[in-house]
Amino acid sequence: MHGDDTVGVVDFHMHVYEKPWNSWVVEYLKKINPQIDYTRPIDEGILIREMDSAGVELGVVFAESTPEVTGTVSNEFVARLGKNDRIIPFCSVNPSKSENVVEILEYCINELSMKGLKLLPSYMYFYPNDTKVYPLYEKAVELDIPVVFHTGTSIFRNVRQKYADPLLLDDVAVDFPDLKIVMAHSGRGLWYNTALMLARIHDNVYLEFSGLPPKRIPEYFPNLEELEDKLIFGSDWPGCNLRELVNGFKNLPYSNKVKRKMLRENALKLLKVE
Ligand SMILES: [Zn+2]
Repeated sequence: MHGDDTVGVVDFHMHVYEKPWNSWVVEYLKKINPQIDYTRPIDEGILIREMDSAGVELGVVFAESTPEVTGTVSNEFVARLGKNDRIIPFCSVNPSKSENVVEILEYCINELSMKGLKLLPSYMYFYPNDTKVYPLYEKAVELDIPVVFHTGTSIFRNVRQKYADPLLLDDVAVDFPDLKIVMAHSGRGLWYNTALMLARIHDNVYLEFSGLPPKRIPEYFPNLEELEDKLIFGSDWPGCNLRELVNGFKNLPYSNKVKRKMLRENALKLLKVE
């Protein structure tokens, strides 16, 4: 997208916290992104400064209900950040911890004005195609919000990788053709082919590329341009240098049209932002 830098990027995958994450997460992030002070909250000011430095116009920010793995970032905290119109707040519910996830989701969307749901099956310990969680998807369809699923392997303590296989989302995509399914990390590590196949087969399944080195994307996902309407940029900040990452994506060997869709337009459509 050389010469097209005036158009802001939409980052579909960002993190913040009020209270620090679990120690092993902080230790990891210190190595990846040492500029951040992890002893104080990562809040609106820090986030917006970072977005400005990288040309990111809008950022999807996740609450986290994953105490065993990363910690807890409350829906209320993230919803408050969403008062800034450059921050798009997504809620988190944990089906292994709460009986009333459907009600929590409804509350977050209708009362807290959050815009989507993030689920991390391998951090929350459930199979995403378990029919026990289907009422959650029914509600997401009714509310017309996208659902981001963490897919792929993670190195953090207490992750249970078996729940992170994107193939489990095939059932969900078949049973909920109107549910917008975003595969965060696109099956990182073991399952790139599976993620690519699902995005190819299912109209409602999207590939999101956070946590992947941009240089390797053409190799991990052959003929990706054919899926130009299914590609979503995400950073996983602060787990990266945001500016370098955005530049890496802008330099991918695809047409400007494909890169504009990947870095902005497809996300705006999913978020129903004009
Ligand atoms: Zn993440």
